[in-house]
Amino acid sequence: MSLSERELERYSRQLVLPEWSGAAQERLSAANVMLIGAGALGSPVGQYLAAAGVGRIGVVDDDAVELSNLNRQPLHFTPDISLMKAENAKVKLSALNEDMVVESYPARLDATNAEALLLGADAVVDCSDSFETRYTVNAACCANGIPLVEAGVLGFAGLVMSIVPGRSACYRCAFPVEPPAGSVPSCREAGVLGAMAGIVGSIQALEALKLLTGVGEPLLDRILQIEGATLTFTTVTTERQDDCPDCAQQSG
Ligand SMILES: [Zn+2]
Repeated sequence: MSLSERELERYSRQLVLPEWSGAAQERLSAANVMLIGAGALGSPVGQYLAAAGVGRIGVVDDDAVELSNLNRQPLHFTPDISLMKAENAKVKLSALNEDMVVESYPARLDATNAEALLLGADAVVDCSDSFETRYTVNAACCANGIPLVEAGVLGFAGLVMSIVPGRSACYRCAFPVEPPAGSVPSCREAGVLGAMAGIVGSIQALEALKLLTGVGEPLLDRILQIEGATLTFTTVTTERQDDCPDCAQQSG
């Protein structure tokens, strides 16, 4: 596979990076990424991955666009209210980059459909807003050896970690116990600023690009914690757990 004249121009500002290369760009063109959620995190992740030239992006989201989403979900505009987010993401990302394929899955990912949705992905970026979905995505990625970028954002706080099953700690290794339903406030209850979600989502996109191309060093066995109010970035280390029900059976 070689890059067309149009691709060489579109991606010229990243191809010129000393760390990047035509080979990295071709790996991206051949990559298949599943995006779980097309909201506050999924908007910047989708935009940056599509803009960077990921060959195929699948978008899973079962929500429709609401007016109260627009402070933090820049993929969706005011005229898009009431459209399905997955479908609207497909329209917007396809318009951004015509050299890639976007597929929409207007469904809620759960334990019954996770494997079917994620199978064949080269990486999964979890932009969901529920712990239940996060643990389900983690388990499915671990079972199928799919690299995963996890993240969360609430209020002024954000968190990102990358996972290569069998090689680095998974989400359940780092957070063994799922918080009981209702114990952590939702965005609706605690609030979230769009710019804060933009920071976290941009870091998720960067992590996904690193995992897909092999450029740089992803956040493996490390959790990045971001406190937006003071703009403090803290990295804490984590490690694989021998008894992790999700990833202990995986070998790297
Ligand atoms: Zn684990």
